[in-house]
Amino acid sequence: MADQNILIIGSGFAAAANLIHLVEAGIKPSQITIIGPGQLGAGNAYGCDDDDFRLNVRANLMWIWPDRRDDFGNWAKIHIKNDKGAMRHSGIFYRRRDFRRYVANCLDAALAKAGGQDNAITHYPQIVTKLSKADQGGWQAECEDGRLIKADLVLLATGNPPPQWPCPIHGVMAPLPDHANRLVQNPWNGRWLDHMPAQSRLAIIGGGLTALDAITALARRNHQGPIFLLAPHGSLPPEQADWVKHCPPSWPDAPRPSKILRRFRSYLPDLPTEDAAWQQAFEELRIDINQQWQALSDGDRRRLMRRLGWLWSRYRYRAAPQTIAAANRLQQTGILEICHARLGAIHLQAGGDETSLRLDLHDAKTGARHLTVDHVINCTGVGHDPLLANLVADGIGVPDAFGHGLRVNHHNEVIDPDGDAMATLLLVGPAMASSLGDVVAASEISLAGMRVAARLANQIL
Ligand SMILES: Cc1cc2nc3c(=O)[nH]c(=O)nc-3n(C[C@H](O)[C@H](O)[C@H](O)COP(=O)(O)OP(=O)(O)OC[C@H]3O[C@@H](n4cnc5c(N)ncnc54)[C@H](O)[C@@H]3O)c2cc1C
Repeated sequence: MADQNILIIGSGFAAAANLIHLVEAGIKPSQITIIGPGQLGAGNAYGCDDDDFRLNVRANLMWIWPDRRDDFGNWAKIHIKNDKGAMRHSGIFYRRRDFRRYVANCLDAALAKAGGQDNAITHYPQIVTKLSKADQGGWQAECEDGRLIKADLVLLATGNPPPQWPCPIHGVMAPLPDHANRLVQNPWNGRWLDHMPAQSRLAIIGGGLTALDAITALARRNHQGPIFLLAPHGSLPPEQADWVKHCPPSWPDAPRPSKILRRFRSYLPDLPTEDAAWQQAFEELRIDINQQWQALSDGDRRRLMRRLGWLWSRYRYRAAPQTIAAANRLQQTGILEICHARLGAIHLQAGGDETSLRLDLHDAKTGARHLTVDHVINCTGVGHDPLLANLVADGIGVPDAFGHGLRVNHHNEVIDPDGDAMATLLLVGPAMASSLGDVVAASEISLAGMRVAARLANQIL
């Protein structure tokens, strides 16, 4: 039992936080293998280098340990230089790449503390394409390069699947030397910004935090060409206010969607949503929302999200003040137009040396509309996780209530098609949200990892 091998699939923040908690709980690093591309801890969220891609919450909300919430802020005071732009009236919003440095630092410290010759983990920079039950028990992961890795216990930490195009793309782009940058399918790492001509006409698809990151970076690069931002609700996310969290509200004993909705309505003050008191009330509603969520049936979860989903996604994911300031600047100069529109199709138009993209939109005000641009940036949010989909197709796991991830129990164990929890297949990361609630933030992911590590250490040691 003590020599059980643990395989973590994924290499982002969830993998790093889990690793830290596992070694701190006493599991030997040499028992742990990680498979995932890139620097451990970076992932899709923090794997960007752009100066304008910032954390969307204040430093003290980016914690790894619940009893050391100021750790990142304290580290930042010593290690983050030349970032005067981080400080805002509502808090300090550091760059995402600096948070990655902090995570790497915590990881090194945890592994060094584990000490001795056992302090080396194994990390394969690969993608796992298939996970199956091994004949002799345990699990077998198959990597893109054909490598097979066996493990007694697997922790899925595959994170936020990159965005997919929300509409058909007609025409063939391949012969053009710069084709990859004409249609930027995944903008999260920000590398596309280095190849964006300042005069080019851009369409940004999506009106969330990723779109705001793109706008902020373009503003600082002094982008001059027109930017059309196609936002399904015609507006940008609200800005983080200077709120303080107090007590959670009381909740009904037997949660029902209608009762939860009523609680939201009665608890949120009759104030503008930008007001700090409004956000404070909203944040207080979040404190115990997971217990309410977990007590609902799948049908009730879907019913609740049909009614509350728009409010939740609009006010849960607020923007760093720096990003809103940049968007306002570009709007005032007439460079940025926010269109209340949905994209129907993209058509490649190539003629001689000229290439452009024609977009068919449905504009809420004017109806059918066409735009001609040089580049399209896809900021539509997370896509689908092929590994989790394979686990469902192979009859190992079952989809959650929304078909986004796998169903898990409150110990993060994946549920099999018979409804039984698998103690050797666990999932930590955004894909647990449909089962467990409001758990996509870094701190919540770390907390889940901490609980998992404590239980595994209990079983294994
Ligand atoms: C752009 C962005 C910005 C964010 N900003 C914040 C923020 O400021 N504050 C906050 O609290 N939260 C933020 N989040 C939320 C985020 O969910 C968490 O903070 C956390 O970083 C998620 O970590 P993760 O490791 O689960 O996911 P990810 O960061 O998505 O990392 C997953 C990793 O697993 C790898 N992987 C995927 N599939 C496989 C496979 N089959 N085999 C091997 N490896 C695989 C991926 O390549 C990736 O490296 C942000 C999310 C995104 C996408």
